[in-house]
Amino acid sequence: MLRLDEVSVSIAGIPILRRVSLEIGRGDTIAFVGRNGAGKTTTLRAIMGVVHASGAMSFDGTRLDAVEPYKRPGLGIGYAPEDRRLFSAFTVEENILMPARVARLSAEETRRRLARVHAILPELKEMGPRPAGSVSGGQGKMVALGRALMIGTRLILLDEPFQGLAPVLANRYAEALRALRDQDPDLGLLITESNPALLKSFADRTITIERGEIAAAPSGAAAV
Ligand code: ATP
Repeated sequence: MLRLDEVSVSIAGIPILRRVSLEIGRGDTIAFVGRNGAGKTTTLRAIMGVVHASGAMSFDGTRLDAVEPYKRPGLGIGYAPEDRRLFSAFTVEENILMPARVARLSAEETRRRLARVHAILPELKEMGPRPAGSVSGGQGKMVALGRALMIGTRLILLDEPFQGLAPVLANRYAEALRALRDQDPDLGLLITESNPALLKSFADRTITIERGEIAAAPSGAAAV
């Protein structure tokens, strides 16, 4: 489904990602782990086209690097950035609907997808009319997940979703991800995390990044 071949990113002349190659198949849940500053966020940003990357990226056979960044979500890729990036003056629901508007989905399709989001995260229905600026940081992560779900019908990229979540919300978030996987077994999930132990039991596979490079898979593990 998603394939990165020797993707490199430099920022201000400094190499941040070096020849990153990885593959995510249909229905895969991947834990993408690495210390702070290892390059997890930059990898997700390269996939979404937020930073310029060299190398090759493809999604379902389409050359991703040839797709304008603003059109990439329209391929079915949802992205929840670490810092949430909600529009605080808009309501929670308006934020969730935003990618559907950008992708110009029909009113019927938008309603269908919003119902899918509410089925997985019913709390977002309740929170819907509130200004996004009034929700807590943890609730904001749920809103960012809902927004990613709105457009992510094939693949969802979640950047450190558990970072800073109170235990109750972290459990709720994990429960929502399990429900999502049960409901849509073909959906791919790429979840970044700095603690390698946290997602071990949840993910099908772990990919480790160290100082901008993919670390060799431990022996016995399937190569990517
Ligand atoms: P974290 O958990 O801290 O977010 P990460 O693994 O997601 O870590 P990145 O955010 O991808 O790491 O950052 C990788 C490296 O690139 C870090 O050293 C960071 O300081 C640097 N970096 C990323 N973006 C920029 C930028 N816009 N300008 C300068 N340096 C950057």
